[in-house]
Amino acid sequence: MSLLYEYSGNLHMHTPYSDGEAYHAEIAQAALAAGLDFIIVTDHNVLVQGVEGYYTNHENHVLLLTGEEIHDRTRLPQASHLLVYGAERELATCAGDPQGLINAVNAAGGLSFLAHPHDTPLDQLGEPGIPWEDWHVLGFTGLEIWNYMSSVKQVINEGGFWQRIRAVFRPEEVVSAPNPLTLAKWDALLSAGQRVVGIGNSDAHGTVFQLGLLKHVIFPYDFLFSCVNTHILSAQPFNGDWQHDKAIVYKALRQGHAYIGYDLLGSTRQFRFSAHGQYGTAIMGDSLKLGSGVTLQALAGARSHIKLIRHGEVVAEAHNRENLTYTAQQGGAYRVEVWRTFKGKPRAWILSNPIYLEDATYRLNHV
Ligand SMILES: [Zn+2]
Ligand SMILES: [Zn+2]
Repeated sequence: MSLLYEYSGNLHMHTPYSDGEAYHAEIAQAALAAGLDFIIVTDHNVLVQGVEGYYTNHENHVLLLTGEEIHDRTRLPQASHLLVYGAERELATCAGDPQGLINAVNAAGGLSFLAHPHDTPLDQLGEPGIPWEDWHVLGFTGLEIWNYMSSVKQVINEGGFWQRIRAVFRPEEVVSAPNPLTLAKWDALLSAGQRVVGIGNSDAHGTVFQLGLLKHVIFPYDFLFSCVNTHILSAQPFNGDWQHDKAIVYKALRQGHAYIGYDLLGSTRQFRFSAHGQYGTAIMGDSLKLGSGVTLQALAGARSHIKLIRHGEVVAEAHNRENLTYTAQQGGAYRVEVWRTFKGKPRAWILSNPIYLEDATYRLNHV
């Protein structure tokens, strides 16, 4: 496999332009503190312009980009938030028609991801769930497989009193994996031949969170930027020119040359998932002809529980290993989950994007 450059980022967060607390320059400092290479700020229904570029803290620099999280404000209850990147124009006016919005994003050369698709309500605080409700749509880039704040909401809602307190003050003790419904939906779309890129994000707001008498900023931006992130892979390195590097970020996301890392459990940098067969090689996000068989290889970077999943089924796994190798004889979309024990519980550490192995029985739809 050729040399790949890796960059870690977070692609979903808010400023006071919508309902967040910190402005772009402050958020950039939090991203620098967390060691991220890039962030994409996604305020609700507003594409903030003029703030993109590199931000520094004297030692390091982080690339800040702006996208948008679009929804129909007139729709009640609220549903179907769409993350939009790289469209470079205000598309919130298209929010009333989710398919029309996705089409407009595609026409503008942008990317779209269904945000927190199985978000649950937070009854204790009267907060509604904001799931994706328009599953008939086609042509979107992918799904936000893991939204950390949505996971926190879920464990608060499902747990008893102490679980709720822990979710607020020690979320890492109670959050362990993405919503299984979202993973099942991803697998179902993949098995139907749809190319679906998975991303993982914070959805940071810096909000003061109140639970009864307890009031505290418990989910600061820098903490959330050290939790669930999206790592991208590129054959071309960043060169420090923000427009050049921006193009690399969006190209990698479009191609699914990316994986989701729960970096709080241990750095996920260096994870790799690749395929080698008679028709060539591929990395996550790519498709390859199956031919006489393809060898899939996952390198986790530390001893862990590695699962290879095809259309919702675990087809191979390795316990307490750094790598997994498997020869695929069947077409389909193969993705990897790496699990690791943290604070006494197995937790999802890495989720790869799929490698699509095409044969007579499995072909990607081209929408
Ligand atoms: Zn949202
Ligand atoms: Zn959001």
